[in-house]
Amino acid sequence: MAVHVKNPIVELDGDEMTRIIWHSIREKLIKPFLDLELKYFDLGMKHRDDTDDRVTVEAAEAIKEFGVGVKCATITPNAARVKEYDLKQQWKSPNGTIRSILDGTVFRKPIIIKNIPPAVATWKKPIIIGRHAYGDIYKNSELVVDSAGTAEIVFTPASGGEKKVVRIHDFKGPGVVMGMHNTENSIRSFAQACINYAVSEKIDIWFGAKDTISKQYHGFFRDIFAGEIKKAEGQLQEAGIQYRFMLIDDAVAQVMKSSGGMLWACMNYDGDVMSDMVASGFGSLGLMTSVLVSPDGKFEYEAAHGTVMRHYYEHLKGNPTSTNSVASIFAWTGAIAKRGELDHTPEVVSFAQTLERTVIETVESGIMTKDLMLIAAPKVDRYALTEEFIDVVAGRLAKAVA
Ligand code: NAP
Ligand code: MG
Repeated sequence: MAVHVKNPIVELDGDEMTRIIWHSIREKLIKPFLDLELKYFDLGMKHRDDTDDRVTVEAAEAIKEFGVGVKCATITPNAARVKEYDLKQQWKSPNGTIRSILDGTVFRKPIIIKNIPPAVATWKKPIIIGRHAYGDIYKNSELVVDSAGTAEIVFTPASGGEKKVVRIHDFKGPGVVMGMHNTENSIRSFAQACINYAVSEKIDIWFGAKDTISKQYHGFFRDIFAGEIKKAEGQLQEAGIQYRFMLIDDAVAQVMKSSGGMLWACMNYDGDVMSDMVASGFGSLGLMTSVLVSPDGKFEYEAAHGTVMRHYYEHLKGNPTSTNSVASIFAWTGAIAKRGELDHTPEVVSFAQTLERTVIETVESGIMTKDLMLIAAPKVDRYALTEEFIDVVAGRLAKAVA
């Protein structure tokens, strides 16, 4: 007796080892239990190349239309991949393409399991990082100067008004300079996405910047963020959410001493760096999920890790693998729960929660893949193979929903 899901979920298939896991999850953990329409897009490397990457754009448009997507990890081609897959060109990162179409913010959330203790003993609840993924040093212009001279910022108004000039430095000899920017719209969208996410998860929001040093640039972020928080005051109060603005160094120190359970909104570079710190602090990449949230409330769920290429090549050689499918399963449950929430179908949300609980209880009973075995406490003496883990979860899930 499968649970009926009212509206479709957009499915974005991917590459390598995660593609193999993806199909098993869908066939063994989702389809037998849900009567669900999937709008399928194959973002596998070959098909992106065949469609001149149109499939990625179409998938993003479908997420806009239906509101919820779930994505398998995909290859971002580099020179070696262009050769390996005989690609027409070095296609852009699918995540980058989707993010720019949805104008979204990425939130990374670790999965907490009792016998996989975090490296930081005080962390009891997830620390979720929201990274502003536009601008700053990621869209910079820089210049190595090889002699004495003056570096300036020049702003030329499109309307033809007077130029604005700010001196950066009078170089007495060789050095280096950098220019970067952000836009009010993008910062506003970021703040809105953070508010949407925090309200949907009912967690506090922390935002850190270096506004004592960068009074205009970082101060601009602080003020825009505060403005959006002010507009959402009623909504935040209703959800019981506190907002804290801190100096970024204070935020880092507070996070280390906290028990977790907050959304940590980060400027682009801080988010890049801190998300890796938090991910390794919580144990394994295989336990890190990620969701892209657009300012108008569209959601795309995925595992934070890549396609696990090394395991895939072992698999192709016919060797057994022990690849962790937990984050990919949680990508599916995240999307299903959100679908149920938007459709007002609590039985769908409840299925997603049952599947999540089943996965966590499976690991807590000592059945886990090798990456987790290495950090489990108490120790376990054997690890499950890729397919074996999914099969155990499927068996337990059938009992749990019966
Ligand atoms: P990766 O897929 O994240 O894997 C790196 C290593 O981390 C693996 O070799 C494995 O370590 C460990 N690992 C990651 N996920 C695991 C899991 N679920 N279970 C067990 N171990 C896991 O990164 P990569 O191999 O450097 O990148 C492969 C491809 O993924 C690249 O083409 C890249 O473009 C793409 N990528 C995609 C996304 C995305 O779609 N969101 C994100 C990142 C990377 P051991 O080898 O030590 O077992
Ligand atoms: Mg990083």
